[in-house]
Amino acid sequence: MMTQQQLADLMFPTVTKTPAEVEAQFPPRQLPEGARVTRVAPSPTGYLHLGVFYTAMVNRLTADASKGLFYFRLEDTDKKREVEGGANDILTGMGKFGLTIDEGFVAPDTVVGDYGPYQQSCRVDIYHAYVKDLVTKGLAYPCFCTAESRAEAREKQQALKVRTGYYGEFALCRALSADQAAEKIAAGIPYTVRLRSDGDESRRIKYSDVVKGTIEMPENDEDIVLLKSDGVPTYHFAHAVDDHLMGTTHVIRSDEWISSVPKHLQLFRVLGFKPPKYAHLSPIMVEDNGNKRKLSKRKDPQAAMHYYAAEGYPADSVLEYLMTVANSDFEDWRRCNATAPRSAFPFNLKKMSVSGALFDLKKLNDVSKNVIASMSAEQVAEAVIAWAQEYAPDFAARLTADAAYAVGIFAIDRGGNKPRKDMAKWSDAPDYAAYFLDETFAGMGELPENLTAADAKAILEAYRPVYDPAADKTAWFETVRGLCEGLGFCPDVKAYKADPTAWKGHVGDVSTVIRLAITGRRNTPDLCSIMQLLGKERVDKRLEAAINSL
Ligand code: GLU
Repeated sequence: MMTQQQLADLMFPTVTKTPAEVEAQFPPRQLPEGARVTRVAPSPTGYLHLGVFYTAMVNRLTADASKGLFYFRLEDTDKKREVEGGANDILTGMGKFGLTIDEGFVAPDTVVGDYGPYQQSCRVDIYHAYVKDLVTKGLAYPCFCTAESRAEAREKQQALKVRTGYYGEFALCRALSADQAAEKIAAGIPYTVRLRSDGDESRRIKYSDVVKGTIEMPENDEDIVLLKSDGVPTYHFAHAVDDHLMGTTHVIRSDEWISSVPKHLQLFRVLGFKPPKYAHLSPIMVEDNGNKRKLSKRKDPQAAMHYYAAEGYPADSVLEYLMTVANSDFEDWRRCNATAPRSAFPFNLKKMSVSGALFDLKKLNDVSKNVIASMSAEQVAEAVIAWAQEYAPDFAARLTADAAYAVGIFAIDRGGNKPRKDMAKWSDAPDYAAYFLDETFAGMGELPENLTAADAKAILEAYRPVYDPAADKTAWFETVRGLCEGLGFCPDVKAYKADPTAWKGHVGDVSTVIRLAITGRRNTPDLCSIMQLLGKERVDKRLEAAINSL
């Protein structure tokens, strides 16, 4: 009669390492007491989306809050769903949006750390060592059921109105003896390897989720697949082995995995591993026709991190905004600590929303306007140019043609107590900067209703000869004010309001006409500063062109 050991040797003839030998290669980490080891473990099945980025950020914060470590593991066991370049897209996106990784894949094609390989497809020997051991102990067995026989079993279960799945009497191969299994293996019949579950559906497990609190669920009684027929592990099994060997203390992942916890805890127990703490994050929600639903990869462009790159949101804005989603007291903290680094915020997993926070683009824009307003003109110019080189090359070329002028554009009304907040993202820059550049300046803007073309023309004709390129703000305004009375406009707004019928308008209308001639717009940052930057030649040309257009 064949023993379990002989069956295991038949199934894994080349596996010589024991779990103990594997363990010796992954000694416990030497980290300070209480340090948390977290990870992001994406599958390279598509582009980097906001949910994964957000989860990674929360993992990063959790590690940082405990002087711990955050690593990246690539879960590439599903070759059918793998997308070429997917892993690099994820890593590039994380880097671009300011998420640093301590270990594992830290950037495309760059791996650091002693707990690798950090790519599951390269860890097959390790998984096999554990599965072989389980087979030896009778805790796992080969299953020869085919996709067809499984489909039939499912139909039968549905007809009987019982739970579908491979458990109890429906776990057909569970009853095979080692000899029977060996015979099938010798005949070349493909097989998966399943766990021999000791669970009972009528018993319940209880665990304490760091985000969701105490959760109770039925035990797992399914003989889940550990290795697929090609020898590659399932997510469940690989998760247990990898998170154990890599010393993960906290598994922080999306709450779609919550129903798998009974399986995972069972695997940790069967394998003799100490389980990690689990924290399941609620998904980011969006409002759709008054209903709340999960942010969808298919329906919502803002689900892709590419969206934020293309729109030109600074990394800081995205991180700052996601902090408000992660811990709702972040905003209050930020109000009181306007310039403190984010790392000073007391982030805590326990403060995360259990129900799923709502994604709010308007709020992201508001946050981002503050972030951009706090940057220097040089930083803004550099970031705008970097964005434009990829997404608006003509604009980039215009800005780089005169770097000092580009900085000048973004320097106007920057700094001080009340900086302007015109830009939420770099894609706002081409419009913001349009009138500074001759190629995109649109010419004299449309007059407000209270002004006639003749009035406007008279204002510009009067202003042109007295325009002084060297005038500072005070002198500039005095010049404009000085023109008013002669043109029938009141030099003082209050006086005008006291008796509006006595005038054509007031000093504000006069400066509006000049603003329209110089910028084409009614609303701009400080006009005197704009004119100083544009320079005498441009200003004069624009005044002349405006006069001719009226
Ligand atoms: N590869 C899994 C996923 O992409 C990872 C889940 C986890 O973090 O454990 O969903």
